[in-house]
Amino acid sequence: MCDDGEVTHPPTSPEPPTPPSQGWIATTSAGSAVLDRAGADPAGVLLAADLDGTLAPIVENPDDAAVLPRARAALERLNGRAGTLAVITGRPVRRACEMLRTDRPGLGRIVILGQYGVESFEAATGELRVPEAPPAVARARALLADAVARIAVTDPATAGTMIEVKGGAVALHTRRAADPALAWHLLAPRARAVGEDLGLYIEEGREVVELTAWHTDKSDALQRLIDRARPSTVIMCGDDLGDLPAMRLVAERIEGGGAGARVVSWSAEQPSMRRHADVLCDSPQGVSQFLEELAGRMGKDDGSPEE
Ligand SMILES: [Mg+2]
Repeated sequence: MCDDGEVTHPPTSPEPPTPPSQGWIATTSAGSAVLDRAGADPAGVLLAADLDGTLAPIVENPDDAAVLPRARAALERLNGRAGTLAVITGRPVRRACEMLRTDRPGLGRIVILGQYGVESFEAATGELRVPEAPPAVARARALLADAVARIAVTDPATAGTMIEVKGGAVALHTRRAADPALAWHLLAPRARAVGEDLGLYIEEGREVVELTAWHTDKSDALQRLIDRARPSTVIMCGDDLGDLPAMRLVAERIEGGGAGARVVSWSAEQPSMRRHADVLCDSPQGVSQFLEELAGRMGKDDGSPEE
């Protein structure tokens, strides 16, 4: 499914181990070393995390997604300890801010890169950057809405397919359709065709086709953070194919002798992702536990607020 040529385990090696329930396990030497490396130089740590499926459990309706309180608490402990604390997501940055509750205390240094880095929010300065979407995005939304409505007439089991508009992108979600597989079979090709006709970029994830105005991926976003911070350790947490470009950057750093880890929130829906892990977590709960232990290595808890 994500055969990108990267080989992280020799073909003769056994399948990577499965993480304990709601826990995590290191699957490479880089993963085994990352807590010690981070603890040795907390200010040199760049920690970046995806949102959905990584800090927030995947739910049927994307509007209902929420960051786990445990994940939020772990991020608070990392805020002020990690040199750079970032979230990189396909979500619009304003929605990501809502999900992370950046209006509340505790994440005063977080950087949020929305729409794969097109949009940004810097908590330290309050600067919000949201470029205006081009007309092709509204046109794509109208065409997709029309396609969904027409196919629901001939194939009622596709009812429940959703269209999400988010700034410079429009996404087709088949997760909530009465028959998600049928909806995907009938509507994903239509979405791809709309994207091609309108000159939009096409990104695909778990039961979602996203048409976006700007060609950027999470590696661009992560590279910007790396260029700015010059970190000694880079940790990227993610769960889906859209996280792989950023994880590839981390893998290249590790191959070059640098410190870091690809932290994968593993799910049955994207089983191949575990081939890309240095640290394999069981769901966002497992990621939360990893982040808690990372924070513990990077400083003492003295009860004082960290802004
Ligand atoms: Mg995700």
